[in-house]
Amino acid sequence: MMSAMGSATERRAMLIEGKEREAAGGEWLDVLNPATGRRIAEVPAGHAEDVDVAVRAAKTAFEQGPWPRVSAKDRARAVNHFADAIEENIERLFRLETANNGRPIIETRAQVGRLPEWFRYAAALALAQRTDVVPAGDGYLNYLQRFPLGVCGLLTPFNHPLMILAKSLAPAITTGNTVVIKPSELTPLTTLELARIALDSGIPEGVINVVTGLGASAGRALAEHPGVSKITFTGSTEVGRAIGIAAASRFARATTELGGKTPVIIFDDAGVERAAAGAAFGAFIAAGQTCICGSRILVQRSIYDEFTAAFTARAGAIRLGDPTDASTQMGPLISQRQRDRVQGYVSIAKDEDARVTTGGGIPDMPAPLDGGFYFEPTVVVDARNEMRCAQEEIFGPVAVVVPFEDEADGLEKANDIPFGLGSAVWTRDVARAHRVASGIQAGMVWINDHHRLDPASPWGGVKDSGVGREGGWESFNDFTHLRSVFVRTETSDVDWYSDDQPRRLN
Ligand code: NAD
Repeated sequence: MMSAMGSATERRAMLIEGKEREAAGGEWLDVLNPATGRRIAEVPAGHAEDVDVAVRAAKTAFEQGPWPRVSAKDRARAVNHFADAIEENIERLFRLETANNGRPIIETRAQVGRLPEWFRYAAALALAQRTDVVPAGDGYLNYLQRFPLGVCGLLTPFNHPLMILAKSLAPAITTGNTVVIKPSELTPLTTLELARIALDSGIPEGVINVVTGLGASAGRALAEHPGVSKITFTGSTEVGRAIGIAAASRFARATTELGGKTPVIIFDDAGVERAAAGAAFGAFIAAGQTCICGSRILVQRSIYDEFTAAFTARAGAIRLGDPTDASTQMGPLISQRQRDRVQGYVSIAKDEDARVTTGGGIPDMPAPLDGGFYFEPTVVVDARNEMRCAQEEIFGPVAVVVPFEDEADGLEKANDIPFGLGSAVWTRDVARAHRVASGIQAGMVWINDHHRLDPASPWGGVKDSGVGREGGWESFNDFTHLRSVFVRTETSDVDWYSDDQPRRLN
């Protein structure tokens, strides 16, 4: 058994067709605890041949197994049962999530604790699903049916492994599809655990398969596999573009949830302390490793100095520490590579003549955390919107604060970016809040808040932040095809080639 600090190493197999499997090539990948830098497990390094085995297993389960054929009621019952099993295992799951991705236990408890909601919501939609009858003309009844797509490939990132998986797994299986999951090579442990819980709760063999391995190998093979009908990908914009192209080339669907540089627009009536607290929540949760982290803070000039002072004080007071300790507010970054990248952006910001008011470096941590990938919460001020530090996704605890003059200027700066995922507006002026929300080019807007999501609420981006939505009916229905059924209700027979009948093509 692994401790939260990762003192022991164990080998975890892939799960394909309900059976544990090693990679065909016999290679293994190290899984680290980012809080210590120590190895806590090994998982198989799957390649294209392993992906092929998993896709075939999922295809067999789809074409011959019970899952797509049982009634929506029975599938909903099974998914609710799975949700109950997740609930029974919540503590184990969030502790393992913390051990593998380094997020403080206060965050993983809050996030993983909501996991069952995604499955119960999907089960509820399955029971509530109705389709239309189309007014297709006299003498005909035209009704619509929804049916599952087949095998879905789910590619997930390291930052919220379970929650992001749940967003697509819940609707994918509840609509009758089977899946192959390729979790991030950095954080595969909770995904393997969840697939086991699903199997033990009664989800049939082959419905949920997990292949572990590197993105460029196993991930790419899954995205390009001709047997996969839909890919859901959450990750970087660069990889998402390649996945979108691979899916389009064989007419498969692709939902891509990609990067962001979320603007947080703070007006001078917002209340400086309130806005500073909200902006700190927006910027530093998950050590800034969230796609929607409020990393580009646009502040009205009249309160700029007061805000940057309050925000700097809050960032500097965040407690770094052992993520398993309930008093810790910020854990490490996911890897040495990610920390180097974040450090590099702080140097870029300084070269661009922006100013660091707190943080910017690697903190001194006591053993064994001194081997972890910690980085200080960092505030960069006096930045301009066109600077690289304000335009590019850093994916770390670095918030860049840019001044703006008035509403039009704030909105223009918010939209002057290739991304369009999350956004936030802080003001007490109700009319302005809605006006600005309507003008923002982003898939999501929070007014006087940040980071809110719900299984019923569509989630996704515009521009380089991706295509498609997760959550809500939109995502649920996107895991199905629509079939149109025409029924002739006229009593006369069709005889097109008889000169006695009027010829109608409606
Ligand atoms: P990543 O793109 O490096 O990896 C994501 C997944 O894709 C991993 O499973 C990885 O193994 C796999 N992968 C990598 N290269 C691949 C390839 N060539 N073909 C197929 N699969 C490949 O992303 P990451 O570093 O794990 O996550 C961080 C990124 O995810 C950030 O850009 C962040 O903004 C984004 N993100 C977006 C959302 C959203 O909802 N829009 C949510 C979380 C994270």
